[in-house]
Amino acid sequence: MPAKAAAAPEESEIRRRRRTQAILEALKSRYPDPQIPLHHRCPFELLVATILSAQCTDETVNRVTPELFRRFPTPETLARADLGEVEELIRPTGFYRQKARAIVECSRRLVKDHGGQVPPDMEALVSLPGVGRKTANVLFAAAEIERWPGWPHDRSRPDGTGIVVDTHVTRLSRRLNLTEHLEPDRIEQDLMRLLPPEEWSRFSLRLIYFGREVCTARSPRCGSCPLRQWCPSAAYAGSPPWMAARRTAARRTRQSR
Ligand code: SF4
Repeated sequence: MPAKAAAAPEESEIRRRRRTQAILEALKSRYPDPQIPLHHRCPFELLVATILSAQCTDETVNRVTPELFRRFPTPETLARADLGEVEELIRPTGFYRQKARAIVECSRRLVKDHGGQVPPDMEALVSLPGVGRKTANVLFAAAEIERWPGWPHDRSRPDGTGIVVDTHVTRLSRRLNLTEHLEPDRIEQDLMRLLPPEEWSRFSLRLIYFGREVCTARSPRCGSCPLRQWCPSAAYAGSPPWMAARRTAARRTRQSR
């Protein structure tokens, strides 16, 4: 009989909130002023850079965008661009054919429907080609941190925006047992419930930096980790059985489709 898969440790909502607060404070003291890692000079550039960052490192995106934006500095110019030229410029980011189509189509829609501006509105953003909730949340986080004019800087009112959930945020949220879910939308909901809205933008950035430096995918440094006292995965060197169990379940679901 196969061994029963271990579940994530159960804990009360109050205890999880306290733990989250302690993790938040530790991350704040390590990263007091986190910045958006994708280079940009305006919402349009960050929108394009974020679309390019899918399945690709920020460093690679930052290497290709200076020339891309030198050739096509506005939505109007990118909307009229030759697709082959765009593909060549962004080729190092991978999936370059789909991405070139997405950023050119997106620029066309910005010109046609939004007067060449990036709309500061979740619903309008996610209706653009190549733009999902994660990309839109990156823009809202940057708008808050960099005080973009015309964009919301205060998350205390419900406006449909949330928390950026990328691969690092997903991995760390599960290792830290802040969520039991695998799906970004559900992880986002769990984090939004645990954190005050004014922390949403910077919390995910801090997790992303921490995921690159300490809690990496392959070799988490649990022995010297400043979060270890609040992390149930520390006892498993970062590979807790509940994550293996979910990975297997996800693989089985995919295979049965
Ligand atoms: S203790 Fe290990 S698994 Fe937990 S946050 Fe730190 S590095 Fe990641």
